[in-house]
Amino acid sequence: MAKVFYDQDVNWDVMKGKKIAIIGYGSQGHAHALNLKDSGLDVVVGLYKGSPSIAKAKAAGLTVKSVSAAVAEADITMILIPDEKQADVYKEDIEPNLKDGSALAFAHGFNIHFKQIVPPAAVDVFMVAPKGPGHLVRRTFAEGGGVPDVFAVEQDATGKCFDIALAYARGIGGTRAGVIQTTFQEETETDLFGEQAVLCGGICQLITNGFETLCEAGYQPEIAYFECFHEMKLIVDLMYEGGMANMRRSISDTAEYGDYTAGPKVITSDSKQAMKQVLQDIQDGTFAKDWLLENKAGGRAHFLAMRRRHAEHPIETVGGKLRNMMSWLHSSKED
Ligand code: NDP
Ligand code: MG
Ligand code: MG
Repeated sequence: MAKVFYDQDVNWDVMKGKKIAIIGYGSQGHAHALNLKDSGLDVVVGLYKGSPSIAKAKAAGLTVKSVSAAVAEADITMILIPDEKQADVYKEDIEPNLKDGSALAFAHGFNIHFKQIVPPAAVDVFMVAPKGPGHLVRRTFAEGGGVPDVFAVEQDATGKCFDIALAYARGIGGTRAGVIQTTFQEETETDLFGEQAVLCGGICQLITNGFETLCEAGYQPEIAYFECFHEMKLIVDLMYEGGMANMRRSISDTAEYGDYTAGPKVITSDSKQAMKQVLQDIQDGTFAKDWLLENKAGGRAHFLAMRRRHAEHPIETVGGKLRNMMSWLHSSKED
Protein backbone atom coordinates (compact mmCIF):
# COMPACT_ATOMS: atom_id res chain seq x y z
CA MET A 1 0.00 0.00 0.00
CA ALA A 2 1.19 3.50 -0.79
CA LYS A 3 2.37 5.77 2.03
CA VAL A 4 0.05 8.72 2.60
CA PHE A 5 1.44 12.12 3.67
CA TYR A 6 -0.55 14.60 5.75
CA ASP A 7 -0.14 18.19 7.02
CA GLN A 8 2.08 17.09 9.91
CA ASP A 9 4.58 15.47 7.50
CA VAL A 10 5.23 18.78 5.74
CA ASN A 11 8.31 20.93 6.27
CA TRP A 12 6.51 24.25 5.71
CA ASP A 13 9.72 26.25 6.34
CA VAL A 14 10.96 25.50 2.82
CA MET A 15 8.26 27.86 1.51
CA LYS A 16 9.56 30.82 3.52
CA GLY A 17 10.26 33.79 1.25
CA LYS A 18 9.37 31.82 -1.88
CA LYS A 19 7.55 33.43 -4.77
CA ILE A 20 5.27 31.13 -6.74
CA ALA A 21 4.34 31.78 -10.37
CA ILE A 22 1.16 30.07 -11.53
CA ILE A 23 1.16 29.95 -15.33
CA GLY A 24 -2.42 29.83 -16.59
CA TYR A 25 -5.61 30.62 -14.72
CA GLY A 26 -8.02 27.95 -15.87
CA SER A 27 -9.49 24.97 -14.02
CA GLN A 28 -6.36 24.12 -12.00
CA GLY A 29 -4.67 27.53 -12.25
CA HIS A 30 -7.34 29.50 -10.41
CA ALA A 31 -7.57 26.86 -7.66
CA HIS A 32 -3.81 26.63 -7.09
CA ALA A 33 -3.30 30.41 -7.17
CA LEU A 34 -6.12 31.19 -4.74
CA ASN A 35 -5.42 28.31 -2.35
CA LEU A 36 -1.70 29.12 -2.18
CA LYS A 37 -2.47 32.78 -1.57
CA ASP A 38 -4.93 31.89 1.18
CA SER A 39 -2.20 29.67 2.67
CA GLY A 40 -0.15 32.84 3.12
CA LEU A 41 2.20 32.37 0.15
CA ASP A 42 3.39 34.96 -2.35
CA VAL A 43 1.69 34.22 -5.66
CA VAL A 44 1.93 35.83 -9.10
CA VAL A 45 -0.14 34.65 -12.07
CA GLY A 46 1.53 34.49 -15.50
CA LEU A 47 -0.67 34.98 -18.57
CA TYR A 48 -0.25 36.01 -22.21
CA LYS A 49 -1.17 39.44 -23.56
CA GLY A 50 -4.90 39.67 -24.27
CA SER A 51 -5.81 36.56 -22.26
CA PRO A 52 -9.45 36.64 -21.09
CA SER A 53 -8.21 35.06 -17.84
CA ILE A 54 -6.38 38.25 -16.82
CA ALA A 55 -9.56 40.01 -15.71
CA LYS A 56 -10.68 36.97 -13.67
CA ALA A 57 -7.37 36.69 -11.83
CA LYS A 58 -7.27 40.41 -11.11
CA ALA A 59 -10.87 40.41 -9.89
CA ALA A 60 -9.87 37.68 -7.42
CA GLY A 61 -7.20 39.98 -6.02
CA LEU A 62 -4.18 38.33 -7.64
CA THR A 63 -1.16 39.99 -9.23
CA VAL A 64 -0.91 39.22 -12.95
CA LYS A 65 2.19 39.54 -15.12
CA SER A 66 3.41 38.27 -18.46
CA VAL A 67 4.60 34.66 -18.37
CA SER A 68 8.25 35.71 -18.76
CA ALA A 69 8.05 38.34 -15.99
CA ALA A 70 6.28 35.95 -13.62
CA VAL A 71 8.84 33.18 -14.23
CA ALA A 72 11.79 35.57 -13.90
CA GLU A 73 10.88 36.45 -10.33
CA ALA A 74 9.64 33.02 -9.26
CA ASP A 75 11.21 30.42 -7.00
CA ILE A 76 8.55 27.93 -8.07
CA THR A 77 6.94 28.00 -11.52
CA MET A 78 3.83 25.83 -11.79
CA ILE A 79 2.71 25.27 -15.39
CA LEU A 80 -1.08 25.06 -15.57
CA ILE A 81 -1.89 25.71 -19.20
CA PRO A 82 -3.28 23.00 -21.51
CA ASP A 83 -0.78 20.15 -21.92
CA GLU A 84 -0.56 20.49 -25.69
CA LYS A 85 0.48 24.16 -25.40
CA GLN A 86 3.06 23.73 -22.68
CA ALA A 87 6.11 22.84 -24.80
CA ASP A 88 5.85 25.96 -26.97
CA VAL A 89 5.22 28.31 -24.04
CA TYR A 90 8.08 26.65 -22.16
CA LYS A 91 10.55 27.22 -25.01
CA GLU A 92 9.40 30.76 -25.70
CA ASP A 93 8.72 32.31 -22.29
CA ILE A 94 9.67 29.98 -19.47
CA GLU A 95 13.07 28.41 -20.18
CA PRO A 96 14.88 31.70 -20.90
CA ASN A 97 13.68 33.12 -17.55
CA LEU A 98 14.07 30.14 -15.22
CA LYS A 99 16.38 30.89 -12.29
CA ASP A 100 18.99 28.29 -11.33
CA GLY A 101 17.93 26.61 -8.11
CA SER A 102 14.27 27.39 -8.68
CA ALA A 103 11.63 24.73 -9.21
CA LEU A 104 9.54 23.86 -12.23
CA ALA A 105 6.26 22.19 -11.40
CA PHE A 106 3.48 20.38 -13.23
CA ALA A 107 0.05 18.94 -12.48
CA HIS A 108 0.41 16.19 -15.06
CA GLY A 109 3.48 14.30 -16.22
CA PHE A 110 2.92 14.16 -19.99
CA ASN A 111 5.39 16.79 -21.20
CA ILE A 112 8.23 15.72 -18.95
CA HIS A 113 7.69 12.00 -19.37
CA PHE A 114 7.46 12.21 -23.15
CA LYS A 115 10.39 14.69 -23.25
CA GLN A 116 8.46 17.56 -24.82
CA ILE A 117 9.96 19.70 -22.06
CA VAL A 118 13.56 19.03 -20.97
CA PRO A 119 14.40 21.33 -18.05
CA PRO A 120 17.99 22.39 -17.30
CA ALA A 121 19.87 20.35 -14.69
CA ALA A 122 20.02 23.28 -12.25
CA VAL A 123 16.29 23.35 -11.49
CA ASP A 124 14.08 21.11 -9.36
CA VAL A 125 11.27 19.39 -11.22
CA PHE A 126 8.22 18.13 -9.38
CA MET A 127 4.55 17.37 -9.86
CA VAL A 128 1.55 17.97 -7.64
CA ALA A 129 -1.59 16.68 -9.32
CA PRO A 130 -4.93 17.02 -7.55
CA LYS A 131 -7.23 14.06 -8.06
CA GLY A 132 -10.15 16.30 -8.92
CA PRO A 133 -11.12 19.21 -11.15
CA GLY A 134 -10.05 22.73 -10.22
CA HIS A 135 -13.40 23.98 -8.97
CA LEU A 136 -13.48 21.11 -6.45
CA VAL A 137 -9.89 21.86 -5.38
CA ARG A 138 -10.90 25.44 -4.69
CA ARG A 139 -14.29 24.77 -3.10
CA THR A 140 -13.08 22.02 -0.79
CA PHE A 141 -10.17 24.19 0.36
CA ALA A 142 -12.45 27.17 1.05
CA GLU A 143 -14.62 24.86 3.16
CA GLY A 144 -11.59 23.84 5.23
CA GLY A 145 -10.84 20.52 3.55
CA GLY A 146 -8.77 19.38 0.62
CA VAL A 147 -8.72 17.15 -2.44
CA PRO A 148 -6.09 14.35 -2.35
CA ASP A 149 -3.08 14.86 -4.61
CA VAL A 150 -0.39 12.68 -6.08
CA PHE A 151 3.08 14.18 -6.12
CA ALA A 152 6.41 13.23 -7.69
CA VAL A 153 9.99 14.38 -7.81
CA GLU A 154 11.61 14.08 -11.24
CA GLN A 155 14.77 16.09 -10.69
CA ASP A 156 16.22 17.12 -7.33
CA ALA A 157 18.77 19.85 -8.03
CA THR A 158 18.59 21.55 -4.62
CA GLY A 159 18.29 18.49 -2.41
CA LYS A 160 15.02 19.99 -1.14
CA CYS A 161 12.67 19.11 -3.98
CA PHE A 162 10.77 16.46 -2.03
CA ASP A 163 10.07 18.91 0.80
CA ILE A 164 9.07 21.65 -1.63
CA ALA A 165 6.68 19.37 -3.50
CA LEU A 166 5.04 18.25 -0.27
CA ALA A 167 4.81 21.83 0.99
CA TYR A 168 3.22 22.88 -2.30
CA ALA A 169 0.66 20.12 -1.84
CA ARG A 170 -0.09 21.50 1.61
CA GLY A 171 -0.44 25.00 0.16
CA ILE A 172 -3.26 23.90 -2.11
CA GLY A 173 -4.92 21.84 0.63
CA GLY A 174 -3.88 18.39 -0.57
CA THR A 175 -2.21 17.20 2.64
CA ARG A 176 -5.41 17.97 4.56
CA ALA A 177 -6.89 15.00 2.72
CA GLY A 178 -3.66 13.05 2.20
CA VAL A 179 -1.22 12.87 -0.69
CA ILE A 180 0.51 9.90 -2.29
CA GLN A 181 3.92 9.78 -3.94
CA THR A 182 4.17 8.64 -7.52
CA THR A 183 6.56 9.13 -10.44
CA PHE A 184 6.07 11.13 -13.62
CA GLN A 185 6.07 7.86 -15.52
CA GLU A 186 3.44 6.17 -13.36
CA GLU A 187 1.18 9.23 -13.24
CA THR A 188 1.37 9.83 -16.98
CA GLU A 189 0.85 6.24 -18.07
CA THR A 190 -1.94 5.44 -15.62
CA ASP A 191 -3.71 8.75 -16.27
CA LEU A 192 -3.72 8.17 -20.02
CA PHE A 193 -4.76 4.55 -19.58
CA GLY A 194 -7.62 5.40 -17.23
CA GLU A 195 -9.10 8.07 -19.44
CA GLN A 196 -8.71 6.03 -22.62
CA ALA A 197 -9.71 2.54 -21.56
CA VAL A 198 -12.21 3.26 -18.80
CA LEU A 199 -13.29 6.77 -17.86
CA CYS A 200 -13.79 8.44 -21.22
CA GLY A 201 -13.14 6.03 -24.09
CA GLY A 202 -14.46 2.91 -22.39
CA ILE A 203 -17.58 4.37 -20.86
CA CYS A 204 -18.68 6.44 -23.87
CA GLN A 205 -18.35 3.45 -26.16
CA LEU A 206 -20.19 1.21 -23.69
CA ILE A 207 -23.08 3.66 -23.40
CA THR A 208 -23.22 4.22 -27.15
CA ASN A 209 -23.21 0.48 -27.93
CA GLY A 210 -25.99 -0.08 -25.42
CA PHE A 211 -28.06 2.75 -26.87
CA GLU A 212 -27.53 1.53 -30.43
CA THR A 213 -28.41 -2.07 -29.50
CA LEU A 214 -31.80 -1.00 -28.12
CA CYS A 215 -32.52 1.40 -31.01
CA GLU A 216 -31.58 -1.20 -33.63
CA ALA A 217 -33.94 -3.67 -31.92
CA GLY A 218 -36.77 -1.17 -32.49
CA TYR A 219 -37.10 0.41 -29.06
CA GLN A 220 -37.68 4.16 -28.82
CA PRO A 221 -34.45 6.18 -28.65
CA GLU A 222 -35.80 8.21 -25.73
CA ILE A 223 -36.32 5.05 -23.69
CA ALA A 224 -32.91 3.72 -24.76
CA TYR A 225 -31.34 6.98 -23.60
CA PHE A 226 -32.91 6.76 -20.15
CA GLU A 227 -31.90 3.14 -19.64
CA CYS A 228 -28.35 3.25 -20.98
CA PHE A 229 -27.22 6.82 -20.41
CA HIS A 230 -29.25 8.89 -17.98
CA GLU A 231 -29.15 6.33 -15.20
CA MET A 232 -25.38 5.97 -15.44
CA LYS A 233 -24.84 8.87 -13.04
CA LEU A 234 -27.07 7.38 -10.36
CA ILE A 235 -25.14 4.13 -10.50
CA VAL A 236 -21.72 5.77 -10.62
CA ASP A 237 -22.59 8.06 -7.69
CA LEU A 238 -23.39 5.00 -5.56
CA MET A 239 -20.11 3.31 -6.51
CA TYR A 240 -18.18 6.55 -5.94
CA GLU A 241 -19.63 6.96 -2.47
CA GLY A 242 -19.34 3.40 -1.20
CA GLY A 243 -17.84 1.01 -3.70
CA MET A 244 -19.52 -1.49 -6.01
CA ALA A 245 -21.11 -3.37 -3.10
CA ASN A 246 -22.82 -0.15 -2.05
CA MET A 247 -24.30 0.22 -5.52
CA ARG A 248 -25.36 -3.41 -5.51
CA ARG A 249 -27.15 -2.94 -2.19
CA SER A 250 -29.25 -0.20 -3.77
CA ILE A 251 -30.31 -1.96 -6.95
CA SER A 252 -32.82 -4.80 -7.11
CA ASP A 253 -31.67 -8.41 -6.77
CA THR A 254 -32.78 -8.87 -10.37
CA ALA A 255 -30.45 -6.09 -11.48
CA GLU A 256 -27.66 -7.49 -9.34
CA TYR A 257 -28.07 -11.01 -10.77
CA GLY A 258 -27.97 -9.62 -14.33
CA ASP A 259 -24.95 -7.53 -13.39
CA TYR A 260 -22.93 -10.64 -12.46
CA THR A 261 -24.12 -12.81 -15.34
CA ALA A 262 -24.17 -10.37 -18.29
CA GLY A 263 -21.24 -8.11 -17.37
CA PRO A 264 -18.51 -10.60 -18.28
CA LYS A 265 -20.33 -11.50 -21.51
CA VAL A 266 -20.18 -7.88 -22.67
CA ILE A 267 -16.79 -6.84 -21.34
CA THR A 268 -14.84 -9.99 -22.12
CA SER A 269 -11.28 -11.25 -21.94
CA ASP A 270 -10.98 -9.82 -25.46
CA SER A 271 -11.75 -6.38 -24.01
CA LYS A 272 -9.07 -6.94 -21.42
CA GLN A 273 -6.66 -7.95 -24.15
CA ALA A 274 -7.56 -4.71 -25.97
CA MET A 275 -6.92 -2.78 -22.77
CA LYS A 276 -3.46 -4.33 -22.56
CA GLN A 277 -2.82 -3.17 -26.14
CA VAL A 278 -3.99 0.36 -25.25
CA LEU A 279 -1.59 0.31 -22.29
CA GLN A 280 1.23 -0.92 -24.48
CA ASP A 281 0.67 1.93 -26.98
CA ILE A 282 0.88 4.37 -24.07
CA GLN A 283 4.00 2.77 -22.60
CA ASP A 284 5.96 2.56 -25.84
CA GLY A 285 5.08 6.14 -26.84
CA THR A 286 2.85 5.27 -29.81
CA PHE A 287 -0.12 7.18 -28.40
CA ALA A 288 1.95 10.25 -27.50
CA LYS A 289 3.59 10.29 -30.93
CA ASP A 290 0.18 10.15 -32.67
CA TRP A 291 -1.32 12.86 -30.49
CA LEU A 292 1.65 15.20 -30.80
CA LEU A 293 1.65 14.70 -34.56
CA GLU A 294 -2.09 15.42 -34.67
CA ASN A 295 -1.40 18.74 -32.93
CA LYS A 296 1.60 19.69 -35.05
CA ALA A 297 0.62 18.66 -38.54
CA GLY A 298 -2.73 19.10 -40.24
CA GLY A 299 -4.34 21.46 -37.72
CA ARG A 300 -5.92 18.61 -35.71
CA ALA A 301 -8.10 17.71 -38.72
CA HIS A 302 -8.63 14.09 -37.69
CA PHE A 303 -9.31 15.01 -34.06
CA LEU A 304 -11.84 17.71 -35.02
CA ALA A 305 -13.57 15.35 -37.46
CA MET A 306 -13.98 12.74 -34.69
CA ARG A 307 -15.31 15.40 -32.33
CA ARG A 308 -17.88 16.47 -34.93
CA ARG A 309 -18.92 12.90 -35.78
CA HIS A 310 -19.47 11.99 -32.14
CA ALA A 311 -21.39 15.21 -31.44
CA GLU A 312 -23.78 14.36 -34.28
CA HIS A 313 -24.63 10.87 -33.00
CA PRO A 314 -28.38 10.37 -32.31
CA ILE A 315 -27.62 9.71 -28.64
CA GLU A 316 -26.59 13.37 -28.38
CA THR A 317 -29.61 14.80 -30.18
CA VAL A 318 -32.05 12.62 -28.27
CA GLY A 319 -30.19 13.33 -25.04
CA GLY A 320 -30.27 17.08 -25.63
CA LYS A 321 -34.04 17.02 -26.01
CA LEU A 322 -34.57 14.91 -22.90
CA ARG A 323 -32.21 16.93 -20.75
CA ASN A 324 -34.24 20.03 -21.64
CA MET A 325 -37.16 18.34 -19.90
CA MET A 326 -35.14 18.05 -16.69
CA SER A 327 -35.24 21.46 -15.09
CA TRP A 328 -32.65 20.58 -12.44
CA LEU A 329 -29.98 19.95 -15.04
CA HIS A 330 -27.97 22.72 -16.58
CA SER A 331 -24.96 21.97 -18.72
CA SER A 332 -22.15 23.05 -16.40
CA LYS A 333 -18.76 23.87 -17.89
CA GLU A 334 -16.76 24.64 -14.80
CA ASP A 335 -14.27 27.48 -14.99
P1 NDP B 1 -7.34 24.93 -18.59
O1 NDP B 1 -7.56 24.66 -20.03
O2 NDP B 1 -8.49 24.99 -17.67
O3 NDP B 1 -6.54 26.32 -18.39
C1 NDP B 1 -6.03 27.04 -19.40
C2 NDP B 1 -5.45 28.33 -18.82
O4 NDP B 1 -4.21 28.56 -19.46
C3 NDP B 1 -6.36 29.51 -19.12
O5 NDP B 1 -6.28 30.45 -18.09
C4 NDP B 1 -5.70 30.07 -20.40
O6 NDP B 1 -5.95 31.44 -20.58
C5 NDP B 1 -4.24 29.84 -20.05
N1 NDP B 1 -3.38 29.85 -21.20
C6 NDP B 1 -3.60 29.29 -22.42
N2 NDP B 1 -2.54 29.51 -23.23
C7 NDP B 1 -1.65 30.24 -22.48
C8 NDP B 1 -0.38 30.81 -22.76
N3 NDP B 1 0.17 30.69 -23.96
N4 NDP B 1 0.25 31.48 -21.78
C9 NDP B 1 -0.32 31.63 -20.57
N5 NDP B 1 -1.53 31.13 -20.25
C10 NDP B 1 -2.18 30.45 -21.20
O7 NDP B 1 -6.23 23.89 -18.08
P2 NDP B 1 -6.41 22.81 -16.91
O8 NDP B 1 -6.44 23.53 -15.61
O9 NDP B 1 -7.47 21.84 -17.25
O10 NDP B 1 -5.03 22.02 -17.04
C11 NDP B 1 -3.81 22.55 -16.56
C12 NDP B 1 -2.91 21.40 -16.17
O11 NDP B 1 -3.48 20.72 -15.06
C13 NDP B 1 -2.70 20.36 -17.25
O12 NDP B 1 -1.38 19.90 -17.17
C14 NDP B 1 -3.67 19.26 -16.86
O13 NDP B 1 -3.28 17.99 -17.33
C15 NDP B 1 -3.57 19.34 -15.35
N6 NDP B 1 -4.71 18.79 -14.62
C16 NDP B 1 -5.97 19.19 -14.91
C17 NDP B 1 -7.04 18.73 -14.18
C18 NDP B 1 -8.41 19.25 -14.42
O14 NDP B 1 -9.30 18.87 -13.68
N7 NDP B 1 -8.67 20.09 -15.39
C19 NDP B 1 -6.85 17.75 -13.08
C20 NDP B 1 -5.48 17.48 -12.77
C21 NDP B 1 -4.45 17.96 -13.55
P3 NDP B 1 -7.21 31.95 -21.47
O15 NDP B 1 -8.37 31.05 -21.13
O16 NDP B 1 -7.41 33.35 -21.02
O17 NDP B 1 -6.81 31.79 -22.91
MG1 MG C 1 -5.62 13.11 -18.20
MG1 MG D 1 -33.82 0.22 -15.33
